[in-house]
Amino acid sequence: MQNLNPHNITTDKLTVSLFTEKNIEASVLRLDKIHPVISGNKWFKLQYYIEEAKQLDKRTIVTFGGAWSNHIIATAVVCKFNNLNSIGIIRGEEPVQLSSTLIQTQEVGMQLVFISRTDYGKKIIPKHLQKDEYYFISEGGFGQKGVEGAATILDHCVKESYTHICCAAGTGTMMAGLIKAVLPSQQVIGISVLKNNQALEKDVKFLAGKTNNFRISYDYHFGGYAKYQLALFSFMNEFYRQTNIPSDFVYTGKLFYGVSDLAKKNFFSPNSKLLIIHSGGLQGNASLRKGTLIF
Ligand SMILES: *Cc1c(COP(=O)(O)O)cnc(C)c1O
Repeated sequence: MQNLNPHNITTDKLTVSLFTEKNIEASVLRLDKIHPVISGNKWFKLQYYIEEAKQLDKRTIVTFGGAWSNHIIATAVVCKFNNLNSIGIIRGEEPVQLSSTLIQTQEVGMQLVFISRTDYGKKIIPKHLQKDEYYFISEGGFGQKGVEGAATILDHCVKESYTHICCAAGTGTMMAGLIKAVLPSQQVIGISVLKNNQALEKDVKFLAGKTNNFRISYDYHFGGYAKYQLALFSFMNEFYRQTNIPSDFVYTGKLFYGVSDLAKKNFFSPNSKLLIIHSGGLQGNASLRKGTLIF
């Protein structure tokens, strides 16, 4: 397994006419470059959970996710790097053919336990996994340690250079970390990838503990979590043609689309300087039919 390299992170200036016409400077922080599999924010969010598990002398990490989860594969790989055992509680019955994500998690040693969607929804943990010696991490790395880890994302760029930091928001943990890390004059813009998830605002406020320097847009979910429309794929392909930056259809595709559309609608004033967080997740594109994306 290839080593993980935060030094590979770059800040790429976008030369997209839409932004230049509006007199906006936009750059992308390429967290997708740290590792081919644990690309992006999941490694940042996991750091302090893993540190705590080690301090508590727990040798086994248990966490939760779906068949294509970026969090599940990232946890599996991070545990392997840290010589910890890992168990993934996976949503839904065990399928005949495992997803490529789950195949890779098994290859790095994660034990998979499948539970019904009903039990998963109710967060019911199978009895045999309810052990004190296990260290549990919430789905998606949600929680305060995840926030602390995400707050270190901006150590990998010159954060003072920007007026807005834009990111995709699922649980809101990364967004909360960014809000904690920015200067009072900067604003964090979150693009919600879930539909009608009004709890996000409350969660972000709770996690960030600061309330006024962020905005969430709920207009770019394309039907809901991991849902898509052809317009999204066309946009992602066109964005790749123009910038050479690949995106994933669950998070960053919706983020780039949303930020572009907000710019089109003059949400950002002229002379704004945007930093768009490429939070990774490219492995999830493997769930799409071949040929859907050109990268
Ligand atoms: C998990 C994930 C997010 C969302 O992070 P949250 O902290 O849950 O809001 C964004 N982008 C990618 C690629 C992810 O895997």
